[in-house]
Amino acid sequence: MKGDLIKVDEGEMLELEVEEDILKANERIASINRKLLDLHGIRAFNFMGAIGSGKTEIIERLVERLKGKYRIFVIAGDVTTTIDADRIKRHGVRALEINTGRECHLDALMIKKALKRINLDEIDLIFIENVGNLICPADFPLGTHMNVVVVSVTEGPNMVKKHPFIIREADVVVINKIDLADVMEVNVDRLVKDARELNPRAKIVLTSARRGLGIDDLIKSLEL
Ligand code: MG
Ligand code: ZN
Repeated sequence: MKGDLIKVDEGEMLELEVEEDILKANERIASINRKLLDLHGIRAFNFMGAIGSGKTEIIERLVERLKGKYRIFVIAGDVTTTIDADRIKRHGVRALEINTGRECHLDALMIKKALKRINLDEIDLIFIENVGNLICPADFPLGTHMNVVVVSVTEGPNMVKKHPFIIREADVVVINKIDLADVMEVNVDRLVKDARELNPRAKIVLTSARRGLGIDDLIKSLEL
């Protein structure tokens, strides 16, 4: 029915110019971050996904398996809590939390500040857990080498389709909590197909971080 839908076109957004400047500044700082990381031979990964998709748990499984091989640092982004960094530290891995307050994403400047606090000569890998949100983290590259987007079957059958922008930015798409697919009546093959259609170049990995399934595949996809 006509009249039921308002589409916001380009140029209709308030303060579009200001926002463009912000995005440009972010990109500039992201490339500074990347140079700094490369200078120190560090590989960095940006984990993005909704709250409850299992980002922290996936990073926990990764650090468990990789901490003997690499010196790892985790930067966790959250609006107010330090829950995620605390969980990581329990594995004997160094972590720092960035509280973003009202901001619903990490940006390159926050990462630049975080990198200043880390002794980069002592680190091989940095896992960044972005703020739980699948919309704007897509617009704010951080200077990392890979974007990892985590969706879980508990988020319903349309989770991939409804987040085209972030899926297109992904180098790796993780479909998590596959052990719950039957209970949730979600068809995992459909989610895989949706992701492939949006982003044919991304690697797609199926995991259950809770059960430790698919973690080896993920490590391979991250080229670690
Ligand atoms: Mg988390
Ligand atoms: Zn945001």
